[in-house]
Amino acid sequence: MIIENNFLECDIIKLFMKNYDFPKELKIKIIVTDDIEREYKKQLKKLNKSYDYISPINFNGLTCVPNKIDEDTIILINSDRVINLKDNNCEVICTLFHELIHAKDYYIYFKNYCSGIYDSSKDRGNQYGFMYWSEFNAKKISYYEYCKLIHGEKINSKEELNNILKNELPIKNKEIEDLLKNEDADVEDIIYNLMFYLGRYSVWEKLFPEEFNNNQKLPKEMLKYEPLITELYKSLKNNSEKIEEYMEIRKLLNYFKGIWINISTSKN
Ligand SMILES: [Zn+2]
Repeated sequence: MIIENNFLECDIIKLFMKNYDFPKELKIKIIVTDDIEREYKKQLKKLNKSYDYISPINFNGLTCVPNKIDEDTIILINSDRVINLKDNNCEVICTLFHELIHAKDYYIYFKNYCSGIYDSSKDRGNQYGFMYWSEFNAKKISYYEYCKLIHGEKINSKEELNNILKNELPIKNKEIEDLLKNEDADVEDIIYNLMFYLGRYSVWEKLFPEEFNNNQKLPKEMLKYEPLITELYKSLKNNSEKIEEYMEIRKLLNYFKGIWINISTSKN
C-alpha cells in the first residue's frame, strides 16, 4: 500500500533543501509505503538492478539511486512512521532529512567521479569509503536539525547538556560498546552503527565543544581503537568530498576491521 504525500511541498523540507544547497537538477520522489522491502525490490526491478550495494536497508527510510543522475532518486518512507503524523512530527522529518542527504551525497559523488552513472559494482573501493561517510554525514545533519526542531533556542543550553550527559550519551555509549564487544556481530553492521555514533557525537561536540572535544566522552571500548578512532573521526568530519579522502576513509575502515577482529578474538 502506498500513501499519498506532499512532503516535497512542505515548507520545512523546501527550506532544508535550500539551506543545504541541493542541486536544482536533482530530481527526488518520495514514496510512503507499508512494505518498504517489497517497494524497494519493485524499484530495483524497474531500474533493472538485481542488487545494489549502495542502498543500505533501513526500515524507517531508504534511498534508491537510479542508473543515471538525471533520473528520479526515490526515497521510501515507512508508513508506520507517518500514519500518526501531526504537523511537526520531528522523527519523521528527521528520517526524511537523513534520506534527502543521501540523495544529495550520491548525486554529487556520481556526478563528480562516475560521469553521472550510478553503478555500485564499479570502483568499489572509493565507493566503500563514500558510502560510509554519507551515513556519517546524513546522521550528523539530520540529528542536528532534529535537535534544532526539538529544542529551538535551548539547543546549547546547560539544561540540554545535562540531558545529553545523563540520558542520551550513556544510552548511545552502551549501544555501541555492546556492539563492539559482540564477537558474533557483522563487522559491516558495526561500521554502519559507528558512523551513526560518530555523526551524533560530532553534533554534541559542535554544541558543547568543552565537554566533548578531544574524544573525552567516547566510551572505553572505543578507546581501544586509538589512535585509529581519532584519525577516522577527523577524516569523516573534515571530508571535503575529494576522491582521495574517500580512499583514506576506506583505508581507515579496513584498519578498523583488522583491529576489531584482533580484539574480539583475543578475548577467548
Ligand atoms: Zn542512511
